[in-house]
Amino acid sequence: MLLQHQCSWGRAMKVPIIGIKRLCMDTDGEGVTTLVAFYGCTLNCNYCLNPHSKELLYPIKWYTEETLYREVKIDYLYFQATGGGLTFGGGEPLLHIDFINSMKKQYGQDICFNAETALHIEWDLIKRSTKAIDHYIVDCKSMDNNIYKRYTGQDNGRMRENLARLIEQVGNERLTVKLPIIPGYQEEGQLGYSKEQLAAIGITDIRTFPYTTQIDKVKRE
Ligand code: SF4
Repeated sequence: MLLQHQCSWGRAMKVPIIGIKRLCMDTDGEGVTTLVAFYGCTLNCNYCLNPHSKELLYPIKWYTEETLYREVKIDYLYFQATGGGLTFGGGEPLLHIDFINSMKKQYGQDICFNAETALHIEWDLIKRSTKAIDHYIVDCKSMDNNIYKRYTGQDNGRMRENLARLIEQVGNERLTVKLPIIPGYQEEGQLGYSKEQLAAIGITDIRTFPYTTQIDKVKRE
């Protein structure tokens, strides 16, 4: 699934963006970051954290490299002072790698680019991202295929293979892997296997965190 744009250097591309969130602190990358959330995803997670990324009727705004830069450059000094930058999320941001590459080339040479990705896409898209993306935040969900399949509706073989290839290409320092505790799917005590598998391919920056589902929110209100 590739939802983009005019694809050639030197001509503006247009991409569908569902939201831009400024001034994120240490949640979507180091320092102060602006989260740019793309429309489109290849998975079908049961507690999707961003369901708008897949709702056809959600009001999408289309951006070119220039219009996006005009909107995000307001925080340029924060990015420089804190080592922050832009974090591309979604949905699956690497579906839009041609746009991200073009954005980096035109406006992003001195801005850190992060990608929050599930890596459940064709390897070619990931391979083409390694020059523009400075740091990858991989939402791997689970290395256990039973859990992954029950939660996302897909096998995790592609994600696992891509993750192993990515660490070979860019090295451990440019990778953070998120391992969520997912109520009803992956409890804290079930994370051991995933941690072992990640360590076996050389990943050291592994962050576990609990998902807050809509059900949890309703219970608290
Ligand atoms: S990968 Fe993210 S955006 Fe895609 S379905 Fe899962 S939670 Fe939703």
